[in-house]
Order: sequence, then C-alpha cells, then structure tokens
Amino acid sequence: MEFKELTLEELTLGYAKSAQDASCTCIFCGEIYEEGIVYRSRGRMVTAERAVQEHIFDQHGGVFRGLLNLDKQVNGLSQIQKDVLTGMYLEKDNKLICEEMGISAATVRSHKFNLQKSKREAKILLALLEQIEDESIVKQRKIIEGETPAEEELPVKKDFSGNTLHPFFTQYNLK
Ligand SMILES: [Zn+2]
Repeated sequence: MEFKELTLEELTLGYAKSAQDASCTCIFCGEIYEEGIVYRSRGRMVTAERAVQEHIFDQHGGVFRGLLNLDKQVNGLSQIQKDVLTGMYLEKDNKLICEEMGISAATVRSHKFNLQKSKREAKILLALLEQIEDESIVKQRKIIEGETPAEEELPVKKDFSGNTLHPFFTQYNLK
C-alpha cells in the first residue's frame, strides 16, 4: 500500500475500506479483511472492520504508533517531535514531558506550538491542492467563473487590514 496515495481519513483510521466490496486493508502491512467473513480475534469472533482495528492495535501498536514509526522520509518527523507527540498521546503534562526529555518547559511549549502551526498550515495546503486536483471542485469553479461579470465589473473586496481572511480567523494568527 502506497502511503502517498492514502486519504487523510484512511491515514487516521489506519485502514482503507474498499468502495467495491467494503473489505478493509491495513495500511501498515497490507493485510486484507473481507467484508462478510467473520474473523477470530482475541479469542472470539468479530466482523472484518473490528478485526482490522484489533489487528492494528495488536500488530502495530495502534494507529498513532504505526504512523509515528514510519520512515522520516514518509512522516517528516524529527525524533524530538516524535517524543513530544508521544508525551501528548500518553496525556502527560508539560512538566513530565520536559523532565523525561531533559529539555526546558519552554522548549516543550515551543514544540507544541510549532506542531499546531504546522497542522494549520497543512490544512490550508490541503485545501489549496483540492482547488487544483479535485475534479468536482475545479468543475464547479469553472461554472461559477463562467457566470461572473467581466473582471472590471467585479466589486473590489475590502481586505481585512492586510489579512485576506475574515477577522474571525485572526485569532488563529494566520497572518
Ligand atoms: Zn497490519
């Protein structure tokens, strides 16, 4: 299974559900669980979807660890980012994380801030690429564009004091 082809939903679930036959494929090892077959897992019988969920937990340490342990070329994470994320995943407070990592509380806070910043930027990049790559979005845009008046007739939009997003978003420091 090619990680670069997976959707955000599949990455988040840890398995890909086939649109054709509803079979579930583990994204970490490619094991397939067929819909309509009952699987034995943890000593009892479960559905395909439950079986793949338990398989991911039992064989790959769960989705979080599976994604975290991917090659740096794939997830782009440094060791320090992985350690901070693991601390957050285990619901440790900043004090405990910085003690265990041997770094200052300010550094932990800074890493957390940068992770959230990367998340916001990643979402905007996703939305931008959807404008280019999603056929239905492109098609709809062309319909809308076709119905707008000529460019010189378009009303000039006031920008919000240098921030082109609505003021609502300024609380997220998107400037
Ligand atoms: Zn697997």
